Amino acid sequence: MARDLGPKCKLCRREGVKLFLKGERCLTEKCAVERRSYPPGEHGRGRIKQSEYLIQLREKQKARRYYGLLEKQFRTTYEKASRAQGAPGENLLRLLETRLDNVVYRLGFAGSRAQARQLVRHGHFLVNGRRVNIPSYGVRPGDVVALKPSSPVEQLVRDATDLTAAVAPWLQADHENLTGTVLKWPERAEIDTPVQESLIVELYSK
Ligand code: SF4
Repeated sequence: MARDLGPKCKLCRREGVKLFLKGERCLTEKCAVERRSYPPGEHGRGRIKQSEYLIQLREKQKARRYYGLLEKQFRTTYEKASRAQGAPGENLLRLLETRLDNVVYRLGFAGSRAQARQLVRHGHFLVNGRRVNIPSYGVRPGDVVALKPSSPVEQLVRDATDLTAAVAPWLQADHENLTGTVLKWPERAEIDTPVQESLIVELYSK
């Protein structure tokens, strides 16, 4: 399974926003974006000429890094979104949001998307009673996501739920029984991802 193994905080600093890639640390004053709110590297504090292409590229990179996808996976998701009915940008965000790893994170069962991805990959979650170990698996309204009974990671998942302030409105979580239900497809207004999806569409439409 290919993954980006580089320093995570540098990604946030490059995009200039908190992407919440490190779980609990992101909620503390140790967060690198709060301590050094300028891009990494020798020329981080220099002036960068903002071209239209650069703005679009940064927006795409931000979304890709937020959801923890590599370029090829992100591009494939975009192509699927652009073939579906409706606005490609909204379709893209909906596809990214309904990935199983993201849903596990949004339900509060993991401290970060990377952790959610690993828990799913290791087969700790069931969808409608069946083990699913594919992080990109797309959930649908009515699906029930649950931690596998007697899973050795139960305490870790419970600890993650303690950090969760709120669950996305299109999901319903039962933190006592460690189960969650997908109530409906997420609307754009219910997705708090800090990206302008229209810029990603413009970039990929060139
Ligand atoms: Fe990003 Fe979290 Fe690192 Fe802050 S602590 S820079 S939010 S990964």
